[in-house]
Amino acid sequence: MSMKPNFIKGLHHVTALASDTQQNVNFYVGVLGLRLVKQTINFDAPEVYHLYYGDYEGNPGTILTFFPFAGSRRGKKGKGQLTYTAFSIGIDSLPYWMARLAAFAIDFEGPKTRFSETYIRFEDPDGLGIELVANHLDRRKGWDSGVIPAEHAIKGFYGVNLLTHDPERTVQMLTTSLNHRLVQEQNAYLRFEVEGASVPGYVDVQMDQTALRGTPGAGTVHHLAFATASDESQLELREALLGQGVQATPVLDRQYFHSIYFREPGGVLFEVATNPPGFAVDEAQESLGQSLKLPAWLESQRAGIQGGLPSFTKPSVFPQP
Ligand code: ZN
Repeated sequence: MSMKPNFIKGLHHVTALASDTQQNVNFYVGVLGLRLVKQTINFDAPEVYHLYYGDYEGNPGTILTFFPFAGSRRGKKGKGQLTYTAFSIGIDSLPYWMARLAAFAIDFEGPKTRFSETYIRFEDPDGLGIELVANHLDRRKGWDSGVIPAEHAIKGFYGVNLLTHDPERTVQMLTTSLNHRLVQEQNAYLRFEVEGASVPGYVDVQMDQTALRGTPGAGTVHHLAFATASDESQLELREALLGQGVQATPVLDRQYFHSIYFREPGGVLFEVATNPPGFAVDEAQESLGQSLKLPAWLESQRAGIQGGLPSFTKPSVFPQP
């Protein structure tokens, strides 16, 4: 029985790099049927969007976000990266998704089996690794877009795959500071889950060290964010990390959550984000993602910022061709 406080509640979001805004929106809303829950900018590079996709409410543990740097070069999946982000679908939903991807001429691998689950694997238009995992554990409802039948909609994350330079030390950080525990082990994979998890949010660490080093760029993940309950738990965790010699940043205001960042020993950039305040802090739940939102400190520069961003049309979920 562990006496450590549960600083981490599960996965919060995954942030990746893309090369084209419209193509990105078309894929994640149009094809995968996620909801665009926030349209804002990269606070450190205001000429670039920050787009958030998730379930209807934009719940932590459902959010995949992108910085689409126009025309940026493709990166390469490899060591030092989160290589595949797995979304959760219903136990009977794989045939639906295989037919849907085929109709949009998107190649996929599988169905494959890992641990006791069946999944398919494919890449987004920039090469970002995505999986859909059929399972009966997940009681969350996906966004009912009116196009993809609600029972087949993506429910949120199932887990992430980490391929790091030093998996043993990655595991050590997960199981000590970040209160994960080993739940399964198969071939070259160790599977971790946060203590007391209520929804799937597995972290699979690939122990195989034959892979090549990853290269950052479009189609690669920038960072993985874990969820913490409050500003207090975040500060306590930050103190604990600093005490262990981990160089965590000061708390940054990301408008929809507060964040600290640090690099895990195997090279992947980790973030710990607070669950509150969430995406409904600056627009109504029913109109999330419809217009460009800026933090108060950038509002006075809105005209200039908006003028520098590419325009894009926000598709509804595409009917199957
Ligand atoms: Zn983030």
